[in-house]
Amino acid sequence: LIEVKNLCKEFHGKKVLKNISIDINKGDVVCLIGPSGSGKSTFLRCLNKLEVADSGEILFEGVDICKKDVNIDLHRQKMGMVFQQFNLFPHMTVLDNLTIAPIKLQGVDANIAIDYAISLLEKVGLADRADEYQSKLSGGQQQRVAIVRALCMKPDVMLFDEPTSALDPEMVGEVLSVMKDLAEQKMTMVVVTHEMGFAREVANRVVFLDSGEFVEENEPKEFFTNPKNERLKIFLSKVL
Ligand code: ATP
Ligand code: MG
Repeated sequence: LIEVKNLCKEFHGKKVLKNISIDINKGDVVCLIGPSGSGKSTFLRCLNKLEVADSGEILFEGVDICKKDVNIDLHRQKMGMVFQQFNLFPHMTVLDNLTIAPIKLQGVDANIAIDYAISLLEKVGLADRADEYQSKLSGGQQQRVAIVRALCMKPDVMLFDEPTSALDPEMVGEVLSVMKDLAEQKMTMVVVTHEMGFAREVANRVVFLDSGEFVEENEPKEFFTNPKNERLKIFLSKVL
């Protein structure tokens, strides 16, 4: 689904991504972990061209989106992105937040968009909040709405950048549980997270990023119980 080859990115002469290569297959749940500043967000942002890579290729569904002449908006519609901050439109109701992009960008019929949005809200336990504004929702509810908003575009992959790290601890679980359901429905997901329990339980691949390099990748059990790289061992000893 996504083939990344020799991706490099620097900011002001500092190499932030060094020759990153990875193939992400349909149905993969890839968790990216690593120290602060290691380049996790930059990598994720390169995948949907919020950041432009300096060199390398990113084939998304066979198209190299690094090329200058691609219509990135078309590809972005296939990639749902959920950030640490929820970024809902504050002046719109939940339902309007969910339906504006499908209606305006994809030309979906309003009634169909509304029905679909409501059916997804039901799945995350928020059907009764459709007419609320963001200010009336808890952080966990806002983040679940943000996930649903991305899903309303019927993406082929969901990119998450620390979706629970701005939440109060008691709300982390409800958001992780929505993500876990998505994984069970075979959604392809790339998740930057500090939630090691989630990585261990839900991911099928865990990747350790350090100083802009993919240092180690493994399936979760092996990754956490038998790390090979010294830097990963040290990192895990601090976070586990
Ligand atoms: P964290 O866990 O703190 O979110 P991260 O692994 O996501 O860290 P990045 O945000 O990708 O790390 O940042 C990697 C490096 O690139 C850092 O040194 C950061 O300061 C730098 N950086 C990121 N974005 C920019 C930017 N727009 N301009 C300049 N430097 C940047
Ligand atoms: Mg980050």
